[in-house]
Amino acid sequence: MAAIYLQSWLQGVIEDNLRTDAEFRRFSGKERASSFTRSDVESYRDFNLRRTLRYAYEKSAFYRERFDRAGMKPSDIAGYEDLVKLPLTDPRDLAQHPYRFLCIPQSAVARPCIFVTSGTTGPQKEIFWSRWDLERITDFMAAGIGTVAARNDTVQILLFDGRPYSQADLLRRGILKFGASPVVSGAARSPEEQLAVLEKSHSAILFGYAGQIYRMTKELEALRDLESMGLKALFLAGEYLPAARRCELESIWNCRVHTHYGLTEMGLGVAVECSAQNGYHFNEADLLLEIIDPATGRRSKPGEEGELVFTTLTREAMPLIRYRTHDLSRLIENPCPCGAVSLLRFDAVRKRLESIVRLSDGAEIYPALFDDLLFAVPDVIDYRVRIMKHGGRDRLMFEIETARDTTRVLARIRRRLFSAPVICAGRDAGTMDEPHVAVVPMGSLETADRAKKMIVDSR
Ligand SMILES: [Zn+2]
Repeated sequence: MAAIYLQSWLQGVIEDNLRTDAEFRRFSGKERASSFTRSDVESYRDFNLRRTLRYAYEKSAFYRERFDRAGMKPSDIAGYEDLVKLPLTDPRDLAQHPYRFLCIPQSAVARPCIFVTSGTTGPQKEIFWSRWDLERITDFMAAGIGTVAARNDTVQILLFDGRPYSQADLLRRGILKFGASPVVSGAARSPEEQLAVLEKSHSAILFGYAGQIYRMTKELEALRDLESMGLKALFLAGEYLPAARRCELESIWNCRVHTHYGLTEMGLGVAVECSAQNGYHFNEADLLLEIIDPATGRRSKPGEEGELVFTTLTREAMPLIRYRTHDLSRLIENPCPCGAVSLLRFDAVRKRLESIVRLSDGAEIYPALFDDLLFAVPDVIDYRVRIMKHGGRDRLMFEIETARDTTRVLARIRRRLFSAPVICAGRDAGTMDEPHVAVVPMGSLETADRAKKMIVDSR
């Protein structure tokens, strides 16, 4: 099978670098990446890592101090293996001292980006990008779109728009670079209006947040035959997508569903799901990935769960070195059936460090666990969950939004929840009550806030 677009794109980036950069040619000992293999990617990665470390040491007050305090110089790090000698960068560091990360004069910042992540508890952060950074960011968006769409396809973007270099605008530019046609329909239109744009523009791909597209699909399903709309793919961002929900969406629209993993600090777009629909290939032209044990900081073995940690390889305004995402995943070792044998692949992100809640019996719960249980019931649109103490025991309180409030839907929800191993184990041990379930009408839990789902701990 021909390898996916993302791999040929990366090969092109590395070949360009070999052509134009004599220092890189000397480092890699190669004139061209004729037979493109993993070692070409690793040599490109190590070369750009060394360059980034030298640059950050020279220009960033934060990293200069980090190196000095550790008694190290950039030349002590030869490549990926040595990187573990440097301390990790936490999102809190970025929140506290954004300007100490800045490597260019403030007048050269093309786009400051102020944002809050991890629900309402995360600190506000500022990220700065130069024009060069924005070019790289839209280059990757082009490569990500090329993994899902064909040239000349129309891609409809259901994201908030409004100002230059907004996420919707950057994606629009990326789609144009790839050679497809973008249509920004925004996030504020009604489902019927979104469908009218789709029909008028002959959109082949819809790009939006998983929850938002699912909600829209369920509202439209009752009114129109969505299978006949000619959609090729839904490209979904933002949240974990349970297998049952993916199947349901694919069947309603008669198209494929691809998900995307993004992180503002890493340039919004980070990774895309290929045709194998099992894990993500990421932007290896601009990012180096490590997976670490969040408790000890040691690198996880391939296949072992750990925290995703990224180092930027090409950023000009604000390089980030060993940046903790607090997202947990693992490397998938087997070669990907999509044919991208030179690219790494990591698994879907099911847990964030902040989203894990420990029950009285020591078991872990996190939103994706309930996503898998509840989103397998077709009429469940969304839910909220809170944990309380009741008579000394844990009690989970669910508010569940459904498309139809029937006793049958409620019975299925209760059956699935009550037979979940984590809940059964707690009940058997006498540390947990039966969960409380309240069904609320469609639209009740709709929110414009894209914060990631959390379990509210009121114990
Ligand atoms: Zn693949």
